[in-house]
Amino acid sequence: MDEYFSPIHTYQVCNVMSPSQNNWLRTSWLPRDGARRIYIEVKFTLRDCNSMPGVLGTCKETFNLYYYESDRAVGSAVRENQFIKIDTIAADESFTGVDLGVRRLKLNTEVRGVGPLSRRGFYLAFQDIGACIALTSVRVYYKRCVGVSRNLAVFTDVVTGADSSSLVEVRGQCVDHAEERDTPKMYCSAEGEWLVPIGRCVCSAGFEEHTDSCVACEMGFYKPVAGNGLCGKCPQHSHSETRAALSCPCDSNYYRAADDPPAAPCSRPPSAPVNVISSVNGTSVNLEWDRPQDTGGRSDLKYSVLCQKCSGEGGPCGDCASSPGGAAVRFVPRQTGLTEPWVTVLNLVAHTNYSFRLLAMNAVTHLSNEPSPYALVNITTNQAAPSEVMEIRQQNTSQNSVILLWHEPDQPNGVILEYDIKYYEKDNEAHSYSTLKSKNTSARVSGLKPGTKYIFQVRARTSAGCGDFSQNVEIQTGKAGVCVSLMKLQIPVVCVCVCVCVCVCVCVCGLYRHCGYSKAFQDSDEEKMHYQNGHVSFPDARFYIDPHTYEDPCHAVHEFAREIEASRIKIEKIIGSGEFGEVCYGRMRLPGKRDIPVALKTLKAGYTEKQKRDFLAEASIMAQFDHPNVIRLEGVVTQSKPAMIITEYMENGSLDSFLRRHDGQFTVIQLVGLLRGIAAGMTYLSDLGYIHRDLAARNILVNSNLVCKVSDFGLSRVLEDDPDAAYTTSGGKIPIRWTAPEAITFRKFSSSSDVWSYGVVMWEVTSYGERPYWNLTNRDVIKSVEEGYRLPAPMGCPGPLHTLMLDCWQKDRNERPRFCQIVTVLDKLIRNPENLKSMDTLCRWVGR
Ligand code: AMP
Repeated sequence: MDEYFSPIHTYQVCNVMSPSQNNWLRTSWLPRDGARRIYIEVKFTLRDCNSMPGVLGTCKETFNLYYYESDRAVGSAVRENQFIKIDTIAADESFTGVDLGVRRLKLNTEVRGVGPLSRRGFYLAFQDIGACIALTSVRVYYKRCVGVSRNLAVFTDVVTGADSSSLVEVRGQCVDHAEERDTPKMYCSAEGEWLVPIGRCVCSAGFEEHTDSCVACEMGFYKPVAGNGLCGKCPQHSHSETRAALSCPCDSNYYRAADDPPAAPCSRPPSAPVNVISSVNGTSVNLEWDRPQDTGGRSDLKYSVLCQKCSGEGGPCGDCASSPGGAAVRFVPRQTGLTEPWVTVLNLVAHTNYSFRLLAMNAVTHLSNEPSPYALVNITTNQAAPSEVMEIRQQNTSQNSVILLWHEPDQPNGVILEYDIKYYEKDNEAHSYSTLKSKNTSARVSGLKPGTKYIFQVRARTSAGCGDFSQNVEIQTGKAGVCVSLMKLQIPVVCVCVCVCVCVCVCVCGLYRHCGYSKAFQDSDEEKMHYQNGHVSFPDARFYIDPHTYEDPCHAVHEFAREIEASRIKIEKIIGSGEFGEVCYGRMRLPGKRDIPVALKTLKAGYTEKQKRDFLAEASIMAQFDHPNVIRLEGVVTQSKPAMIITEYMENGSLDSFLRRHDGQFTVIQLVGLLRGIAAGMTYLSDLGYIHRDLAARNILVNSNLVCKVSDFGLSRVLEDDPDAAYTTSGGKIPIRWTAPEAITFRKFSSSSDVWSYGVVMWEVTSYGERPYWNLTNRDVIKSVEEGYRLPAPMGCPGPLHTLMLDCWQKDRNERPRFCQIVTVLDKLIRNPENLKSMDTLCRWVGR
């Protein structure tokens, strides 16, 4: 009968009176079916030996579970000694009892896992060695991570790994219409949970994300590139005729210029300029107009002017520039690409009809097949005097005469009747000047004074009047030559030199004064120390002193630590190996004291100077600390070989291996007690300004009272010796899994980065020494942390502890708790253990 008095089948045995029982029950052959690790859930009842009189000595309360792997069913050919033991199984205090004369079953349920399995199948076997036992059910199963889709990638079903801590890496396939941005990966844990999603897919161009899939952009929408963005509405004057559009083509008569982005609205050429006003001034005309009414939806408006010269009333017109006999027409500021709505046209022919077309354009004008609309304006030029005479040259200058030559003006504006030549002595214009006339483009001016400077000017005359006089031309009769003195330049050069000298002097004096000030500051701030109990104590020191600031490491170590005679030490056994040599267990006896157990770190023969310096540096650092949760230095041996660092002995060795040896054996409160000690030690160190940089369970030691102490203060070790340290891209060696992101990336180590590491130690402790991030590569660890992934709560870890870990792993280091706050939170938990049962009931770390 089961608990509900229903009849059930059981396999049972109860030979409790007879000694030396060895009864076997074996399953049929079970195919493995791809499983690498299987779980066996056994339900059974056991009779309490005490409840059966007269069985003492022969009655047992356990049975054994075995398995045997084979590629096919081999039946009873398997011998008992070929089976491999999985475990001895005991009743979980649920014994079959007799209540009111009725036998009732009390079921025990036990689960065991075994792996890796490699053959095609296996047998299970149960060995009874004299218990009163009934097996009611055996369930054999394996675990899978069930297919999911995450970050737009599909991860198919996968069987978990072969042992309890290995993760199976699974690559995801992008969902339809998505593409890889960063290879999507997840890890399947032994428990069948998906962990550490890394990388992702993004929807292709023309598709957008919708509840874990990519759907096509609707008509009238578009998406030009693959990415996280959504489909955009087609810009103004554009459309999409299909779904999943990558772009929206322009409506008819609308265009996009070559450098318009796909998101720009489509536009069209502008209409013609309006309200043109012309004002003729002799042979030039000024044209002004207003912006077109329709700019085409663009702001890159420009204007051009087309000019035609027409002969007579209603006669044919031809291009201005190509009209025979005319000088080149000039456009100010230019003829095409005008940005302002005006232009002045110069050098037109007098008494002539002109026709101007004004066009407005933009960057899509050339894309349209339609002729550009324009504004037309006709004008007639007036009568005008000839333009200025240019390029006057001299020829054959003598003491009394000069011959001048020039060209006809660019714009004669009629027939040139004659030229006027005006001249005067350079310094005498106010008093008198002379004129001379010439029918052609040269003239001889005579009757001049020798060795005198004259100014000459020429102008042309037509029936419309005289043009302007040309520019002044200076000519000296008879003599020549003036030299320039450099004297004027000398004064500024001297000034610049003097200024530079004064500046340099001021700067040098400033620097010198600054250095002098710093030195005085250093001298007055020197530390004063004195010895006490073999340790050096610092009356006012609140900060630890980096021994590397000492030139001689031996000198440094004796400033801080006491020398012990080698004869006072007895080495008994080797307990480990450190960076510089063996770590031994021994005993130390000081005069007048009892001998005490100590750990001895030795410096192996053949060390280099640097190794010795680093070895003693650790002692110099340790010697400055005095706290129950920081490993205590007893002294150093440096006067004889081998050199040794002597510390208190920690019976349980390093925390990580200690936890692995005692997997699952502590209560949560005991684990919190270990963590509290570490946090207290770190509070002390951080208050002294010491940054550990390599806080990890392997660097915590545990004594026989389960007190944890922070150890490993070798600065070089962080960089060189830790097997978990890896080179980063910046070249430093860092224990990646324990180190805060800002310390990995920018080498920003601080007490806050130690807090991050402390969070990882919390995780190591609550998972009994599991490797953080399991078998992920360092690269994947960095990447997943960067993407926001954080280690999940280990099995059985109370919510508040995991919350505290997550606080330690805040990306912004200022958001992380300080060590003293961590101690406060853990103290509260220890005082009120019921908080550890409820998830997340604990207030967050104080002082937030
Ligand atoms: P270390 O060079 O400090 O990492 O030490 C190497 C190993 O020696 C450690 O992992 C411990 O197992 C052991 N060890 C170091 N110091 C002590 C100590 N004070 N008491 C007991 N074991 C120690």
